[in-house]
Amino acid sequence: MPVLVASDLDRTLIYSAAALALTMPDARAPRLLCVEVHESRPLSYLTETAARLLCDLGDEAVFVPTTTRTRKQYLRINLPGPQPAYAICANGGHLLVDGVSDADWHRRVTERLAGECAPLAEVREHLLRTADPVWVRKQRVAEDLFAYLVVERELLPEEWVKELAAWAEGRGWTVSLQGRKIYAVPKPLTKSAAVREVARRTGADLVLGAGDSLLDADLLLAVDRGWRPGHGELAETDWSAPGITALPERGVLAGERIVREFLRTARAPR
Ligand SMILES: [Mg+2]
Repeated sequence: MPVLVASDLDRTLIYSAAALALTMPDARAPRLLCVEVHESRPLSYLTETAARLLCDLGDEAVFVPTTTRTRKQYLRINLPGPQPAYAICANGGHLLVDGVSDADWHRRVTERLAGECAPLAEVREHLLRTADPVWVRKQRVAEDLFAYLVVERELLPEEWVKELAAWAEGRGWTVSLQGRKIYAVPKPLTKSAAVREVARRTGADLVLGAGDSLLDADLLLAVDRGWRPGHGELAETDWSAPGITALPERGVLAGERIVREFLRTARAPR
């Protein structure tokens, strides 16, 4: 019976330069591997040690990248090791099997959304109407499933985010603030539903997971054992759940620790 490892990517396994949170003297900093180039510039990194551990993990478990990124944003990440047989994109809206979206899964998700929450158009219209151009840099719709804004964090009023979250709650949507992005995501669009589907297909009897943001809470509640880094939305609210370990490490070193914990747990006798 295989072990399934479902892990968030951004600020859990891979880190932009702004999110590295390195605190040691420069001469003692870990060597980093760039795993994503965007518009010809390096964008995301993990430590070389994490990269090696991730390769090893591929021999011990079914590793499933589990991200809110669109398929296009996911596919430009070049993680070490073989291409994962399964990957979850768009917060569960797309289940990639050998790199190709499973049409049946996507249809099931969109049917569920149509029945259980307010339509994307209504949320989009609210965002366009209430967000202030003074601090909004970009407005985006992802995969026709959810919306996000790229904002100037220093200018963003905390009150506006709270009001948006309350407005969205009544319509079956969740709001998540991650770095410079504010996501509005339908509540029924979850990473956990897609992870359960992969567990069913692979017959996994142990599911491990990790994540840092509010959108990862349902994932962590669905796994047997999980880890969250010392930074991010979940750490800020001191979020915890049975079977979930809150790590003290922050930034790219938390990513390394998480892969180490995945590997150690996957190798432990059961
Ligand atoms: Mg994340």
